[in-house]
Amino acid sequence: MPLDPQTLGNLIMGAAALGAAFLAALWLSLIIWTYRDCRSRARDPLVCILAAIIVALLFLPGVVIYLILRPHHTLEEEYQHSLEEEALLQAIEDNPVCPGCGRNVNDTWIVCPSCHTNLKKLCHQCHNLLELSWNLCPYCGTHAPGKRRDNQTLDEIIRSIPLMEEAVTEEAGPLKQAETPEEPLNSNGAP
Ligand SMILES: [Zn+2]
Ligand SMILES: [Zn+2]
Repeated sequence: MPLDPQTLGNLIMGAAALGAAFLAALWLSLIIWTYRDCRSRARDPLVCILAAIIVALLFLPGVVIYLILRPHHTLEEEYQHSLEEEALLQAIEDNPVCPGCGRNVNDTWIVCPSCHTNLKKLCHQCHNLLELSWNLCPYCGTHAPGKRRDNQTLDEIIRSIPLMEEAVTEEAGPLKQAETPEEPLNSNGAP
């Protein structure tokens, strides 16, 4: 079925017009895409305008050149990356180190296994870990032993003194008893 030249010409013209419209749309969208993509990667808008002009002038080869030269990471990726780095640094800073030897220690350790420095202490009431500087347990409110109580009354201080004296005499008592039996034994056994 032969087509007459008029119809054939019209068909070719229509196809060419469609192809031209498609190419024009592709050209325009590539320019827009390049500019948008560049804006997500570079802070300087002038660079992006330049990239869009290159694509506008060179069309597809311009896109290839842009794809080769564009920054590897988008600004958001860079931001995420910096956040991750910051978190990592924070984790390193937060990692507790032994004040004695400077080695990394665990939060739950009470003594450094390397240099035997005391790191934490246990509450004698609830057995939770306390910082060495705390003189009050934040978990149960018990005063840590061996630490000065800020709100101690004079009565409590006086009451605690006789207990200490008793402890001293108890320690000294057996020593004196142990010394005295030696002298009679020596005087009897020597002659
Ligand atoms: Zn240590
Ligand atoms: Zn406690």
